[in-house]
Amino acid sequence: MQTAEIRNRWLKYFGDRGHTVVPSAPLVSDDPSLLFVVAGMVPFIPYMTGLIPAPYPRATSVQKCIRTNDIEEVGKTPRHGTFFQMNGNFSFGDYFKEQAITYAWELLTTPEDGGGLGFRPEDLWVTVYKDDDEAIALWKRIAGLPDERIQRLDKDTNYWSTGQAGPAGPCSEIFFDRGPAYGVDGGPATDDDRYVEIWNLVFMQYQIDNVTSKVDFDIVRELPNKNIDTGMGLERVAFLKQGVDNMYEIDEVRPVLDRAAVLSGKTYGANHDDDVRMRVIADHVRSSLMLMSDGVAPSNEGRGYILRRLLRRSIRSMRLLGVEGPTFADLFAASRDAMKASYPEVETEYDRISRLALAEEETFLRTLAAGTTILDTAVDETKTASKQELKGETAFLLHDTFGFPIDLTLEIAEEAGLTVDRTAFDRLMSEQRARAKADAKSRKTALADLSVYSAFRAQGETVFTGYDFLNTESRILG
Ligand code: ATP
Ligand code: MG
Ligand code: MG
Ligand code: MG
Repeated sequence: MQTAEIRNRWLKYFGDRGHTVVPSAPLVSDDPSLLFVVAGMVPFIPYMTGLIPAPYPRATSVQKCIRTNDIEEVGKTPRHGTFFQMNGNFSFGDYFKEQAITYAWELLTTPEDGGGLGFRPEDLWVTVYKDDDEAIALWKRIAGLPDERIQRLDKDTNYWSTGQAGPAGPCSEIFFDRGPAYGVDGGPATDDDRYVEIWNLVFMQYQIDNVTSKVDFDIVRELPNKNIDTGMGLERVAFLKQGVDNMYEIDEVRPVLDRAAVLSGKTYGANHDDDVRMRVIADHVRSSLMLMSDGVAPSNEGRGYILRRLLRRSIRSMRLLGVEGPTFADLFAASRDAMKASYPEVETEYDRISRLALAEEETFLRTLAAGTTILDTAVDETKTASKQELKGETAFLLHDTFGFPIDLTLEIAEEAGLTVDRTAFDRLMSEQRARAKADAKSRKTALADLSVYSAFRAQGETVFTGYDFLNTESRILG
């Protein structure tokens, strides 16, 4: 079942049941405290908290999301994308727990030819908040689940709140069992690779106060208007329905992965580390495409910086696959073609998107070409000397001479199993700032210095002069 088909079935199922179909909000959130939309419920928060009266009693959407906190998981677990789509159904003081569980179970287990998603009931498990006896009773009655496939868990995983006084409540999550080939028997509480979380149902039923942490608060009272907020991972359901191993192999993502394989001459499936890199590229290129289609441009702060990191990580991953030249023209076109049926804006906005992507690639490839040899040598020297820590001086020189951002140095060092002397780096940076200040002052009084400075600059423009200079500087700085 194609991803688009799952999306359509979702919207039709809930649309037919009185939910207003709401288009996805842009990835960039209205909320200044949130960089991006991280869940389907974000655009509905004012209705959930009662700040604004809901214009409809129930709604459904397929919301574009970005979660940067999952970036380290990408490509390593089967289920974490930086970009993904969350299918949601929402009730604002309308239906509650019983109806939400009924809908979820029916949509998941109705056969495909009956308009459902066709999961076999025996492959599904649920978790509930440990004291939510009501939910347990409902799962038994509605779904006929046996006790052993309902696991009681604690607040850290099965309770939703904003971490502040306001509405909160228990949640119940639905998992798919991929079978013994993927891990040990024992349910989602013990193995999150074999048991893949697909859908989270949040039952917003209490007003909480005296909140000291996400798991530490007082329940003040039952809410007069209880809400339902659910989120199903579209890519997760797609990979399970498409019979592939992970979300990077679904129809909307796989073409980018295949492009990366062709461009690098690598075979997907032949080597674990290379496979992870191809999955990272497929994920990050798609996330970047979607971010740029919503108006984000690479920059050094905020949202633009997240985008820049995604673009740079894609480029570095291609390089680790052995490709030194530009690849974005091919990779972005592949992602556009895989996404345009669902998001026409990736095509109508493509000229702008590809101009941004290609410019970023060109600049970064130049930076990398200049700095990587130096960094590789420094890594080798550190290892030969049986040390764990790269000198702060090296990180500083890479920054100063080649424009290597410190987080890039940290990332490359970490890949090599090393740390970086951050204290020395920070000291050198502040010394340099002090020098620049003093320079500016003396230049004002001694105009002759200026010509010397620009002559030196002109010389420093060629990479190899820069390299010699670096070695000299490196000795001076010890
Ligand atoms: P996990 O425990 O697997 O990280 P989660 O508990 O953080 O997931 P929720 O916050 O409950 O996820 O989000 C609701 C649903 O959205 C999840 O059940 C899952 O199907 C989907 N989802 C969450 N994070 C991602 C992601 N990074 N990539 C793809 N789908 C996701
Ligand atoms: Mg998570
Ligand atoms: Mg979870
Ligand atoms: Mg969850």
